[in-house]
Formats: sequence, structure tokens, C-alpha cells
Amino acid sequence: MTLAPDERDLLGRLAPFAEHPGRAVVILDFDGTLAPMVDDPPRAVPLPGTGEVLARLVRCVGRVAVVSGRPAAFLADVLPVDGLTIFGQYGVERLEGAAVVTDPRARAWADAVAAAAEEAQATLPDLFVERKDGIAATLHWRRAPHLEAQAVTLGRRLATTHGLRLEPGRLALELRPPMGIDKGSATRTLVVGAHAALVAGDDHGDLAAYAALSHVVAERRLAHGLRVAVRSAEAPAELLRQADHAVDGPAGLLTLLAVLADVLESP
Ligand SMILES: [Mg+2]
Repeated sequence: MTLAPDERDLLGRLAPFAEHPGRAVVILDFDGTLAPMVDDPPRAVPLPGTGEVLARLVRCVGRVAVVSGRPAAFLADVLPVDGLTIFGQYGVERLEGAAVVTDPRARAWADAVAAAAEEAQATLPDLFVERKDGIAATLHWRRAPHLEAQAVTLGRRLATTHGLRLEPGRLALELRPPMGIDKGSATRTLVVGAHAALVAGDDHGDLAAYAALSHVVAERRLAHGLRVAVRSAEAPAELLRQADHAVDGPAGLLTLLAVLADVLESP
């Protein structure tokens, strides 16, 4: 088989994962990374074949994790893969067996999040306000793009008024408790003791995971880090600039993950 230069590069980058597969970690975002973006967020599903490839990886590597802003129960529902580690709401929620375990610090912010969500919906009724198990609220303007400027102004005001943290998303803004939990803290937790780790994402929130990975490599607590960007017309330039490797959309990532499984399964 003749490989294009890109593919040869990729195989070189995946080789460290085969050195100690039991100490290899794969950390994946969900929306825009495993699942194509959709107008109606509750309807997002992973690309066909994703579960099978993740199940192969679960058998080969030390840990496969999905870290997303989505609630853990949603992720468990759309990704029913035995042995998959699920961090919902960036790690505020974790799936343990069939149970969702929530960081108890989030409880103190439930009233502020509910009040912000209610105020957002009352102020801009055409905005889709996603309430995430009382832990966060997301303002989506994908179905009402003309509301973007007003939604951003509103999000900033609500964050200040209610003491919440504002996180940019793809045609969305999320109001979250200021608990210092993001994809960076999740990544640092997940790579403890690892030899090689891959993080893949498509958006601003994934930059924290990139930074955490770079940090643990610089501190020599991780031998190899691979930052994968999932390209789209909406991908932030900074994500593509910082990535070690870029793929085209969730389909490109699924191919990369299948190649990784092939590499690890080959005798
Ligand atoms: Mg995403």
C-alpha cells in the first residue's frame, strides 16, 4: 500500500501509542468531533460506526474517554460502549457504572443557573436555551442567527449578574458555575500515569485540553501528546494553529481512530 505524506505523518504520530498500549489514553469531545453539528442539539448522534470503533479502542488502550459539555446521562445514552469513560459537563458529572456522580460543589450554583436560564428565555424567547441538569445553561442561536449580537450581550450580563462563567461554543454561549472545571482539568485527571495521550476537539473549549496536554508533556509527566483538530467552517483558527494534526469533520476523526485501532491490533 502506498501512503500519502499526510498518512505517513499520521502513522508516525500514532506509533508511540503502540509502545505501551495499556498506558495510552484517548480523550474525545462529542459535538462536532464524534457527532456532526445539528440545528437541534438534543438530536445530535455520533456518526454511524463510532460505537464500534470506540469499543475496539477500549479493548486496546488504557482508557478511552469522552469529555463534553453535554450532561453525562445524554452521552451514556448516545454512546452505549462498555468500558468507555464519560465525563459530562466538562467533568462536573462522571458516569460510574450506570450512575451519574455530580461534583457536590455544583449544587451551590443551581439557583443562579436556573435564574440565568429563565431570564435568558424571557428576554429572547426565540433563543434556544438548553438547561443542563441544573448545572449549566446554554444559549444557542444556530436556529436564530440574527440574534447573535443580542445573545452575546445578554450572556455577558447574565454571567456578571449571577456570578457564572461564560464559555463560548459553536453558535452558542454557556453559563456555568465558576468551579475551575474545564476540559483542561479533565485532561490532567485522565492522563495521570499515561505514556501517550491523544485529545481531539473542534472548538474553543478544546483549547484548554490542548494546553493541559502540552503542560504535562513539558513537565515530563507524559512522553507523547497528540492534539487533533476536527476541521469545519466554524473551527476557531487558534485550534487549527495549535493542533499537531487536523482531520476533516467527524468522518475524518472516525477514520483516524480506526487507523489507531488497526495499529494497536496488528501483531
Ligand atoms: Mg465540540
